[in-house]
Amino acid sequence: MNTNAVIAIHGGAGTILRASMSASVEADYHAALHAALAAGQRVLADGGSALDAVSEAVRLLEDCPLFNAGRGSVYTAAGTHELDAAIMDGSTLEAGAICCVKRVRNPILAARRVLERSEHVLFTGEGAESFAAAQGLEFVEPEYFHTEARHRQWLLARDRNRAMLDHDGATFAASSFATNNDDPAPREPIDPNRKFGTVGAVALDLHGHVAAATSTGGVTNKQVGRVGDTPLIGAGCYADDATCAVSTTGSGEMFMRMVAAYDVAAQMAYRSVSLQEAAHDVVMNRLPKIDGRGGLIAVDARGNIALPFNTEGMYRGFARHGEMPVTAIYR
Ligand code: ASP
Repeated sequence: MNTNAVIAIHGGAGTILRASMSASVEADYHAALHAALAAGQRVLADGGSALDAVSEAVRLLEDCPLFNAGRGSVYTAAGTHELDAAIMDGSTLEAGAICCVKRVRNPILAARRVLERSEHVLFTGEGAESFAAAQGLEFVEPEYFHTEARHRQWLLARDRNRAMLDHDGATFAASSFATNNDDPAPREPIDPNRKFGTVGAVALDLHGHVAAATSTGGVTNKQVGRVGDTPLIGAGCYADDATCAVSTTGSGEMFMRMVAAYDVAAQMAYRSVSLQEAAHDVVMNRLPKIDGRGGLIAVDARGNIALPFNTEGMYRGFARHGEMPVTAIYR
């Protein structure tokens, strides 16, 4: 039994500016991260697989409207939602992913079914939805994904006629998520730092296997049909028992060009560097060279974890076997 079992999660790199974050919104984020970690930790403690633990943690984060995945996803340029997700099992190198789905309640569960029940790895759009329907997964009306905060964020991005990474309108989101807030107007202009949503989980189970899962609504005001790094194995999600499991968040186009998740694993395999060193190099050295902003979470088969980000913050946390979950937002 590998008692180094651990789960780590993220809810996006880039956060609401500290100055704009109210105590109650901050507490809501910590509570949501804590709940997802505790659920994943329970799966691991019961002897469940890393794959089950990351599926469950990401499913919960998808259901939480605070994060840009599942309910609470950002809007496309057409005022719709298109969701992407991927999952990978480090013990078998099996993977499943879906992109551009509009009505699947939990994209991560669809990705999981692709991993388990399809000979293919990635389904898109209509084909992904037909596959999910045939698997008996839950479908919802598009309005299910709507939140006031993301809708206003989209209107802002649309008026400026540009795509915007989630949390660009972070102050917006902060004011909209705040309870008892009777001032719906944003208090500050859009943060010039790019901000990202997306959720992910990586885990090492008691049997010594790792897995990774990532899910997103993408970027605000993205063109219809745009696919980012999240559902691409090697870019936004990767897992191999021999090296590590990785889930990313950030400017998807740059993470794709850097094959960011796989690069962490490849550096460990080919350069024999530690998880920490490989993850740091990708996030702090390689991605910034092409203006790639964001972060990642990673775990190796010995239970080491790395949670680097090059943005102001990253919603994140980890829970080791038998210990209290730890959550954090800022540096
Ligand atoms: N990486 C995601 C994408 O480009 C965005 C994010 O992490 O918020 O779709």
